Amino acid sequence: MSAGDGIVTSAEALSGQLTEWRRHLHEHPELSFQEHETTDFLERTLRGFGVDPVRKTETGLWFDIEGPRSGRTVLVRADIDALPIEEEADVPYRSGRPGVMHACGHDGHTAIALGVTKLLLERRGEIAGRVRVLFQPAEEKLPGGAPMMIRAGVLEGVDEAIGLHLMPMRLWAPGGVFPVGRAALIDGPAMAAAEEFRIRIRGVGGHGAAPHTAVDAIACATQVVNALQHIVSRQVDPLQPAVVTVGTFHAGYNFNVIAPQAELTGTVRAFDESVRDRMEESLRRIVRQTADAFGATADIEYIRGYPPLVNAAEQAEVVRGVIRDLYGTDALEAAVPMMGAEDFAYILQERPGAFLWLGCGSEELKAAYANHHPKFAIDERALPIGAAVLTAAALRLLER
Ligand SMILES: [Zn+2]
Ligand SMILES: [Zn+2]
Repeated sequence: MSAGDGIVTSAEALSGQLTEWRRHLHEHPELSFQEHETTDFLERTLRGFGVDPVRKTETGLWFDIEGPRSGRTVLVRADIDALPIEEEADVPYRSGRPGVMHACGHDGHTAIALGVTKLLLERRGEIAGRVRVLFQPAEEKLPGGAPMMIRAGVLEGVDEAIGLHLMPMRLWAPGGVFPVGRAALIDGPAMAAAEEFRIRIRGVGGHGAAPHTAVDAIACATQVVNALQHIVSRQVDPLQPAVVTVGTFHAGYNFNVIAPQAELTGTVRAFDESVRDRMEESLRRIVRQTADAFGATADIEYIRGYPPLVNAAEQAEVVRGVIRDLYGTDALEAAVPMMGAEDFAYILQERPGAFLWLGCGSEELKAAYANHHPKFAIDERALPIGAAVLTAAALRLLER
């Protein structure tokens, strides 16, 4: 017998329950840092299992499942928050809260972690150490729930960490539906760091016929937009992935008025910490000096978001081994890093671990929209797979 025997069967037997939990959560979504009902639901459900949660933050909780032998501790993390999106998916368990939707699959992650808890409680005798299960709030909103839970002590005594993300569509090339039964897990940097910037260019307003009496904020801001594209093309190592996107540009009052002010917002993405530093420096310099060159001034707000998510090769290989053993070699798909971001990255900065992408797409079930789409949906057959993989991975990490 090795850790993992019979887990697929036990997880399949939990399918109905996993679906029920997930649908309940889907109907009752809550925004980041406001997951009170979700936390109450988790506490009630866990008490029903005989588990006493250690509640450490206003929303979110964690607890330990101890095996008979002493050993290391593995953290299994699920995020629990929803997004400010009006649901357009045509399902009977549609969001009951206007403007709030589980459009990133965190309802599924939460149900999976409840499943992991159940499966581990059934196999307490096989746990060579301790598994800590974390239900983490606020993945979707800066500054993120993960750093808050770390400050609350969730990593004290933890040696390694694992987690997963449900994905109906491949967010990496070549794209397309990422079906149930498939998973991907790459070594090293897997998801990008994501920053947010706001730039306000201040010129001097005036009559459209008298430019010499004014400082045109639009003329200046367009130069800034173009110059910012030189950061990636001319200032970052071409072998390093990087993105600068200006997402909004607002300025002006009327056709015959010179705009006194222009406001730009956007995002910067990169993997490497030194590239991240360099891009912030470049952006600040380009904005300041371009404004100066045109006689304008600029205010820059630059918010560092989540760090890059970096999988540890050793733990990633253990998880891949579990997937191969439970679901066959074909279940594992080759993937490349993506420019999306994820706050589990903070946990992986502190402890070695692995973050897995789990397929849950199906054209037939209309689960063929990317995460954050208002029609986002999942093929729920992915839930027992997620629970089996995380349970077996936690057991195997402790066994080695
Ligand atoms: Zn998301
Ligand atoms: Zn997510």
